[in-house]
Amino acid sequence: MKWLRRKPTIITATGLVVVLVAAVVLWNVSSSRTFQFFGELVHRVDTTEKVVALTFDDGPDPAGAQQVLDTLDEEQVKATFFLVGRDLEKHPDLGRKIAQAGHEIGNHTYNHQRMVGVLPSTVAKEIEDTDAQIRRTGYRGDIHFRPPNGKKLFALPHYLSEHHRKTIMWDVEPDSAGTPTAQQIEQDVLDRTKPGSIILLHPMYQSRDQTRQALKPIITKLGERGFRFVTVSALLAGR
Ligand SMILES: [Zn+2]
Repeated sequence: MKWLRRKPTIITATGLVVVLVAAVVLWNVSSSRTFQFFGELVHRVDTTEKVVALTFDDGPDPAGAQQVLDTLDEEQVKATFFLVGRDLEKHPDLGRKIAQAGHEIGNHTYNHQRMVGVLPSTVAKEIEDTDAQIRRTGYRGDIHFRPPNGKKLFALPHYLSEHHRKTIMWDVEPDSAGTPTAQQIEQDVLDRTKPGSIILLHPMYQSRDQTRQALKPIITKLGERGFRFVTVSALLAGR
């Protein structure tokens, strides 16, 4: 009757494997740039036209906002800023400048916390409090959403789907990992950008000087290759 004693061990081991596999699958889904369980997710647009969207995550922050706005103004480029509600509340003047310059503003949550394993009520509050801050800038357009660190699983996409909001991801992200130099950031963008790309940059905070330095050469060189810069909404409208 030895098996009677061994069976629970086998069942427990199988159960553990199932749980681990499920955890790995869910972790991968939560990090996916191209898939979520509910609603519409866009990470690039299928087009043969040489249009791309420059998108900036986080802030607004005094360390980077003005320099980014100046560069965009000099280059006559409209971009999309995924802003954090908490930062907007701290720096409403910067939010107004971004809106007044005619850029698109997206929602990047209020506290920039990982939106996985959170309650639906937390999701609603994070998004709605940030929407309110975005409207206070004077911005009137559609407010698309980008999850902090690209993380989403159940409650977040479900909320967005119910409210007919799009999740905007990206297909080019030169400065998300490590500490690349401005030249590496520029090169990565030039290597990976295709018609319809959504380029993610983090130029806002003090530590992101290399990204800010890369911005102008990125715009100039993609421009030389025939690319035109549009907001996320304009990119989506052109599909
Ligand atoms: Zn972010």
